[in-house]
Amino acid sequence: MATILASIPDGVEATSAPPVRWQESMRRAVRSSGELLRLLDLPESDFSGAAEAEFPVFVPREFIARMSRNPHDPLLRQVLASPEETSQVWSAGGLIDPVGDNAATRNPGLLQKYVGRSLLITSGACAIHCRYCFRRHYPYQTAPKGPSGWHASLDILREDVSVEEVILSGGDPLTVTDSQLHWLVGELNQMTHVRRIRIHTRVPVVIPQRVCEELLAWVRTSRAAIYFVLHVNHPQEIDAKFAESMRQLRTAGATLLNQTVLLRDINDSPAIQLELCRQLVNMQVLPYYIHHLDRVAGALHFESTVESGHAIIEHLRNNLPGYAVPKFVREVAGQPSKTPL
Ligand code: SF4
Repeated sequence: MATILASIPDGVEATSAPPVRWQESMRRAVRSSGELLRLLDLPESDFSGAAEAEFPVFVPREFIARMSRNPHDPLLRQVLASPEETSQVWSAGGLIDPVGDNAATRNPGLLQKYVGRSLLITSGACAIHCRYCFRRHYPYQTAPKGPSGWHASLDILREDVSVEEVILSGGDPLTVTDSQLHWLVGELNQMTHVRRIRIHTRVPVVIPQRVCEELLAWVRTSRAAIYFVLHVNHPQEIDAKFAESMRQLRTAGATLLNQTVLLRDINDSPAIQLELCRQLVNMQVLPYYIHHLDRVAGALHFESTVESGHAIIEHLRNNLPGYAVPKFVREVAGQPSKTPL
């Protein structure tokens, strides 16, 4: 088995080093495939500059430290700009808006797909660029940012008493400062019909120190129940710092769920998913969904088969308690809920 990197050059954080602030981790993230491969001592030929020009590379060094020196490393393959992204072979059927975000827009940056739940595109930024991202072509420039930009959407949510749950998404909402998130959660808490605030994020996975005191403060004081939906795809993404960040969120009163995207030759194996679900429930993070890939342009080479998903779910059912078995779903644009597979 390949060795997982404990430390790599250029100041990548080793597991024993004191954590840097999350903003600093964002600032020093690796922004090119060439540099990423160089840090891993891998040949600098196996990437596509054209793909990178279309969707920039962005990988925190904390995440790179969990990779192995192996071109097939499951973490590396999620973030390296590969030639398949721009290849004709994989381009047929790829969509710019695979899940119907545009049709679900009720105000710039405010989406509503399902009864009782509205989604606010809180930020266009992410702490990692996942090459299979279903929103890799989303027009983030159209989504207003910050308290002054969110006002119009908040006015709509204030008037619409049918909205019980507000989902903060993006991009990644945890790339926003805690003072702005504190303000936003405070505004939502004043709407008595909003009972739940759900935060979809991958930041604590890739930069665990994002779960800082300032963040825990607004989680602790929220009247509305706070749900975090994490996004972990592979057990190799989990380390002691991530586990500690989950403990802190739990202690602050949040409910923790995880969603995974089924990725060909990365995590579409019963053994890998079993290990992932085991580790998640041991941290009291409930496996929520395994998503069949959204057919976004540039990412079809990641698509696994529905049969693989079924085999995984059967294996999980045979080896885990029911609460540890996620639902295998796909999102079909225009449908009133996720579609079970
Ligand atoms: S963190 Fe989420 S929104 Fe951001 S690139 Fe990855 S999958 Fe897309």
